[in-house]
Amino acid sequence: MAYSYDPQNIFAKILRGEIPCKSVLETEHCLAFEDIAPQAPNHVLVIPRGPYVCYDHFAAEASDAEVVDFTRTIGKICAMLGVEPGNGGGGYRLIANSGEAAVQEVPHLHVHVLAGRPLGRMLERA
Ligand code: AMP
Repeated sequence: MAYSYDPQNIFAKILRGEIPCKSVLETEHCLAFEDIAPQAPNHVLVIPRGPYVCYDHFAAEASDAEVVDFTRTIGKICAMLGVEPGNGGGGYRLIANSGEAAVQEVPHLHVHVLAGRPLGRMLERA
């Protein structure tokens, strides 16, 4: 696998504190913050602190501790937003755009947590 991480991407700058974000949760290995252009009433981005371009890069190269923290942080965000369907919430959608076909704009792994309105079907047919 050949991924080259661009340390000048905007999420790397957020992680280094060079540009601000509306932080929601910080953990040892992750940061969660509000998307600057929300697509739903709740739109939080969860990113690992490590230099991973996209999901498969992270899955292949992150440590077990990073993978566990990332997964649990996403779960904690769902709990903080009160959207867990098993706990009386209205549900949510997770999206991890990766690469060209998915129109990934920022080349640092991020999971979108979207909730707060009916989100429609998973994909529109092109
Ligand atoms: P993607 O198309 O999956 O790469 O999504 C990138 C997301 O990053 C978009 O939803 C943008 O609105 C969001 N975004 C870009 N710059 C910032 C920023 N400075 N702070 C928060 N979110 C951002």
